Amino acid sequence: MNRNEILAADHAHIMNTYGRLELVPESGHGARITDQNGKTYVDFTSGIGVNIFGWNDEEWKNAVKDQLDRFQHVCNYYYCDKAAELAEMLTSRSGLCNVFFGNSGAEANEGAIKLARKYSFDKYGDGRNTIVTLNQSFHGRTVTTLAATGQDVFHQFFFPFTEGFRYCEPGSIDALREACTDDVCAVMLEVVQGEGGVNILDHDYLKQVRALCDERDILLITDEVQTGIGRCGKLFGFMNAGITPDIVTSAKGLAGGLPIGCFIAGEKCRNTLTAGMHGSTFGANPVSCAAACNVLSRLTDDFLNEVNKKGAYIMEKIRGINSPNVKEVRGAGMMIGVAVTVNPKDVLKKAFENGLLVLTAGKDVVRLLPPLTITYEEIDAGIEILKAAIA
Ligand SMILES: *Cc1c(COP(=O)(O)O)cnc(C)c1O
Repeated sequence: MNRNEILAADHAHIMNTYGRLELVPESGHGARITDQNGKTYVDFTSGIGVNIFGWNDEEWKNAVKDQLDRFQHVCNYYYCDKAAELAEMLTSRSGLCNVFFGNSGAEANEGAIKLARKYSFDKYGDGRNTIVTLNQSFHGRTVTTLAATGQDVFHQFFFPFTEGFRYCEPGSIDALREACTDDVCAVMLEVVQGEGGVNILDHDYLKQVRALCDERDILLITDEVQTGIGRCGKLFGFMNAGITPDIVTSAKGLAGGLPIGCFIAGEKCRNTLTAGMHGSTFGANPVSCAAACNVLSRLTDDFLNEVNKKGAYIMEKIRGINSPNVKEVRGAGMMIGVAVTVNPKDVLKKAFENGLLVLTAGKDVVRLLPPLTITYEEIDAGIEILKAAIA
């Protein structure tokens, strides 16, 4: 199919749930991709924080191929070496206990919600099942994770939504204390709100949240689907704040480009779910797990320091643009938000025309999630285009 045939077939036969740009990638390397017309783009998106080693990474690809040469799937009634290896890395490096593997971020959050409610049910019985989430949060697209998402626009059409969620303004511990009544079993939050606008939660606030949860035996769930796996310069974003959650969810970058999601439990709920209570046909897919093992093995301290250095470099460069259209540049590691006075969608379109891929977030933010392996040359090339697009 040529480009026009692809676009036509897509429009005719794929549900129109995405506002797409007319890009049909043909090949890619590092942080650059080439489309069917031979036009190249610098990629500041990693496909929404997924391709953390960029396009066509040799080492990652070999890890995937090696596993494909062995077998592609093993059902969860048996054991899988790569899943065990990955679980060991995730728990030892997060300071948590055990993992459940699924296939996406929304699923990971669903599982975390089930885990938190079961923990509370076991200990306190019925009626203590409310989960407090924050305004401007995003937790996924299933009926339950839409309910968990603290934005009204997501609470339309698909009624009835799952009950048992309460929303609270981020940043205010008093507001959270008020929201955490006797019926609350968990608080779920993103340490940096991604879709909501790259809003960085204050580290002191997060410490206070941790203390409040401890005081009332409320589980703290951090949704690290976007912030985790090196994105914020640490394996998980919570590590920047020096807290340890009770449950952590991960997906997006975890396998560097293959579908996977997981929730990781701490000591309190390591034995909460037992045989038959949760499951997933595709969960712990060996190819995805082999890819994720490669990812984890490469996220060394040196690598993560480099992520922080490059993130700081990008932010400094953007601050240097010195345009009245830039309100603020903020970020953690290589999760970067540029608050603009113009419509961020216009910046996205202009950048696209000129060969740069960016994302937006919230109402006024251009969001950058470059591959963590991006080079300084690729950064500079991208920033030049961004500069023109913002101006
Ligand atoms: C993307 C995202 C999700 C949803 O992940 P899917 O894999 O699309 O289901 C959930 N939470 C956060 C913070 C996200 O960024």
